[in-house]
Order: sequence, then structure tokens, then C-alpha cells
Amino acid sequence: MLISETAKRMRYLYDVNRLGHAYLLLGEHSSLLVETAKQMTHMLFCEHITPEGEACGVCDDCLRLNSDNHMGVYWIRPDGASLKIAQMRTALSADTRKANGVKMRIIVIEDAHKLTPEATNAILKWVEEPGLNRLFLFLTVSLSAILPTLRSRCAVLRIDRRDSAAVFEMSKNPLFTLWSEVDDGDDKEKSEVRFADTVSLVLELGQSMARKEVQGWHVIAERFAKMNYSPPESYAVVDLLIAYFRDLIAVTCASPIVYFTNQTDQLKKVAQSDRVSLYARCALEIGNLRKLLASHVQMITALEAVVLRIQRELA
Ligand SMILES: [Zn+2]
Repeated sequence: MLISETAKRMRYLYDVNRLGHAYLLLGEHSSLLVETAKQMTHMLFCEHITPEGEACGVCDDCLRLNSDNHMGVYWIRPDGASLKIAQMRTALSADTRKANGVKMRIIVIEDAHKLTPEATNAILKWVEEPGLNRLFLFLTVSLSAILPTLRSRCAVLRIDRRDSAAVFEMSKNPLFTLWSEVDDGDDKEKSEVRFADTVSLVLELGQSMARKEVQGWHVIAERFAKMNYSPPESYAVVDLLIAYFRDLIAVTCASPIVYFTNQTDQLKKVAQSDRVSLYARCALEIGNLRKLLASHVQMITALEAVVLRIQRELA
């Protein structure tokens, strides 16, 4: 088995005690996602990692994994067209039973985009507080089909044939989950630079709106225009802006920040509790923008209308 860099990276994180407890494996090919998840189970359970950093393939754990007979792995596949609430309940109760001699439990959910809303809701609490040594791997070909409540509890890993540690690191940034769908995979590095530029632009615009300093709009608009956003990118920009205001509201209520986790200090400097209704208003107006984008209105034009409207009302 040729082990991918992502699976090796998982073992490394486990060894240094930095492994998260829920990951969303996102890619275009279900078979590749399944393969990667299998590699991850091997890399995490094998006690005889080779000098090349691969699972040995012959130890007791590896053999059991090969024959789909490992106590530490609970693998859930859709039952018919969907992943049902009954399956989740069965998994939950199986999780409370003891598994002797197993150092961790990995719960793999294949085709996670087929989770019904009820099934998703049934596992939210489990995913959030999974108990010791649990690891969730949600496999999906569609990020947007995963309920945001579940999505926000997972770190997203993009899995493609050229997977690398660099992509792994990037995907741990929760903001990137909003951006990753626009990435067509042609040029990872270029996409990551565009992502970083966009985040700084969003922060700047969000901040100026939150501080009622919309006079600077034309400067920001010019920079937005220079980015020449594609239609899918425009949606991502809108989503990033909504996320900004939601996080800003979270800060004022002392709730945890979901997306701008790397910019917590910056958000804290901006947030004022007496302006929560303004932030909510901004999030709502920008949310309405999404509909305009669907009817091919230019993102910057629509954004300008929102900015000017809010400015006029504040004057
Ligand atoms: Zn082994």
C-alpha cells in the first residue's frame, strides 16, 4: 500500500498529541476518499511503522484492518440512498461498549453528504464531545451538502491525487472550508495566495462596515475589482463576509468564534456589544446578496448597494 502524505501526517499529529477529533475528507472521488481513510486507520493503529513512514502491513493490527475485522474501527456506509438516524443510534450505542486492547476508536462515515438532517443532529453532540481517543472521519464529495453545524465541528482535508502536507495545514484553517469549494485544483499555490488576499480584503471591508467607516468603500471596491473574482469565488467572498459578522456577533456574546479563529484579537478590537444589531443587519443584507448572485448580478455592484444603503441609514 502506498501511503499518502495526508495519512502519514495524521500519524505524526497523533504521535505529537495534536490530532483533532473530527475531520472531513473532501474530494472528487469517493474511491480515493475510502482509500485514504483506510490508510489513515492503518497509519494510526500500526505499531511497526517502517523507516519509510508506512504501515507495515503484517502486524496484528494491519492484518485485522485488511480483513475489515478491527475492533477500533466502526465504518458506516449509507443504507440505501441515505445515512439514517437509526444507523447513527446503533453507532452511538456501540461506542459505549468496551473494546479491549484497542488504543483508539475511529468512526468512519462514508458518503457523509447522504446524512439526513435528523441523522446529523443525532450525532452533533457526540462529534463535539466524543470522549477520549475517538476520531471521526467524514468522507464526502460535497461540502455544501453537509449541514453547517456538522461542518463547523470538523477540520476539512482536501484529498486529491497530489495531496501534500502543505494542503493539510491549510485545510485546518476553518475559513478555508468556505473557500475550498472554489478551488479547482489546478494551481494549489495560486489558490492559497488568492485565499489569503481575500481574507485580508474581507477583514478590511468587514471592519470598516462594523466601525461605520464606510467612506473608505471606493478604495476597497477597487481592490475587490482587481481580484477579478469568478462566480464561484464571488459566492465564497459573500460567505466569508457573512462568517465575519457572525463571528463578530459571537465575540460580543462571548461565544466561541467559528471561522476567524486566527484573527480573534482583531475581532475583539472591533466588536462592541451595543452594535450587535448592526452586525446582524450586515450579515442579513449580505446573505441576501447570494440570491442576487444567482441572477448574475455582479458581486461588487451588489455589495456596493448594501454598503451604501447601510451608510445612508446610519447617517
Ligand atoms: Zn502494521
